[in-house]
Amino acid sequence: MDSEAAATGNTTKGAETGEVSAVPEDSHDPSQTEGETKEDTKEDAAEASKKKKKKKKAKGNKGEDAETGIPEEEAEPTEPVALEPATAGYNGVTGRGVEEAPKDEADQEAEEGDTGKKKKKRRGGGKKKGGGGTSSGLDGIANYGISDEDFDAWCQKTLEATANESEKMTSQELQKPPREFWGYHYSGLLRPAYVSKQLKMPEGTLLPDYALQADGSSACERQGLKEVPVLEGKDLETMRKACKLGREVLDTAARFMRPGVTGDEIDRVVYQACIDRKIYPSPLNYYRFPKTLCVSANEVICHGIPDCRPCEEGDIVNLDISIYFEGFHSDLNETFFIGDCDDDSQRLVRTAYNALFAAAQMIRPGTFYRDLGAAIQSEASKNGCAIVTTYCGHGVGKLFHGPPKVPHYKKNKAVGIMKPGHVFTVEPMLNLGGNGGDRTWPDNWTAVTRDGKRSAQFEHTFLVTETGLEVLTARPGTDPTQMPAYNPAMFQR
Ligand code: MN
Ligand code: MN
Repeated sequence: MDSEAAATGNTTKGAETGEVSAVPEDSHDPSQTEGETKEDTKEDAAEASKKKKKKKKAKGNKGEDAETGIPEEEAEPTEPVALEPATAGYNGVTGRGVEEAPKDEADQEAEEGDTGKKKKKRRGGGKKKGGGGTSSGLDGIANYGISDEDFDAWCQKTLEATANESEKMTSQELQKPPREFWGYHYSGLLRPAYVSKQLKMPEGTLLPDYALQADGSSACERQGLKEVPVLEGKDLETMRKACKLGREVLDTAARFMRPGVTGDEIDRVVYQACIDRKIYPSPLNYYRFPKTLCVSANEVICHGIPDCRPCEEGDIVNLDISIYFEGFHSDLNETFFIGDCDDDSQRLVRTAYNALFAAAQMIRPGTFYRDLGAAIQSEASKNGCAIVTTYCGHGVGKLFHGPPKVPHYKKNKAVGIMKPGHVFTVEPMLNLGGNGGDRTWPDNWTAVTRDGKRSAQFEHTFLVTETGLEVLTARPGTDPTQMPAYNPAMFQR
């Protein structure tokens, strides 16, 4: 979510704000500019102005749950369900986890003789692997030394501990779009489903400044910091930990995903994973975003609200995780294939990854923030994809969304030059085809493509070092000084 944009969701609206997190469009990033031009067409400009109007309207409505469909009552915090991330073999710096790791799942499955569809039997098949170290993050999801059996038991326990009112609803009731959608004209095939009551963090959790605000606004973000902070010493170490914890939470959610799992269940798993680590899920109540993460399927560009729609075979689903630990936020996301996905989806996800990869290769002291966009857009257009210009990367740390603003399109006017100690996200959102336009659903958060085509995204939190970069949210077992080459097995569920 973005900070300013935030007014609601997780990502920042690009042109206006620059951050990307869970904030819906409402937010305006102070640091980012108003003067920025979206590159595209008049159509986009018209859309943008419409959006602004809409946003204002949305803000006016924020307090009204009836309008948003988000139930007002909050559920009680649940008891912690311990899942200790057992000794991971990865030390966070060297990337040696690979050798120490047990066979990864892909290998295991291959041995099981199901080479065609590796993923399928991953769960429930009685695999016992895992007990030993952190598996490689290169061709699957890291297991942090936790066996599939133990992981499944933890998930089961978590779902029981966080059970909500949706358990008693019929499938028909769960799939009925909330009232604000009645009569809405959708751009694609996806439909919203029931959104359960918001979960509450247990007493004692360190809260960001917006956690208890009625409007979810962040006072520290609103101060309008202009300079990019330089992180060093103890603060940088804390930031590294925050990023490592965010990575663990994403890997936990990703390991849980499979066909049939709902966004609501993923939210509850993320909630518990945060409680187990004594961290706060940054999207929760950020500009009133109702859940702990964003779940964005298919034509959803970003800021999807976890609801009771089950993931289906053939879906692509982005999980965007941001967490708050000892005063610092971290932010990352990945897009996953649910079962077998079509060729266009494969190309889209690969290109979104490679667009982020291209940007990462430019991160070093002296690079202009404004220059990342051209590399990202070039990768997209070579592969028949369009860049979403509404949401940008952003500084992250003490602020969920702060300076710099990092647009993902060429010819932008972002301010600033990279210096050692800068920490920011890059999180390009790519749409299939030539239309990078977005619209926001009547829930005031969910951003979807204007033409209903699919969209994909990847995000890391990066640190500028003296010589280049450190991928603070790197997968365990990978070299943090560079992103690994794309491998679809990393994202197959
Ligand atoms: Mn972000
Ligand atoms: Mn994010």
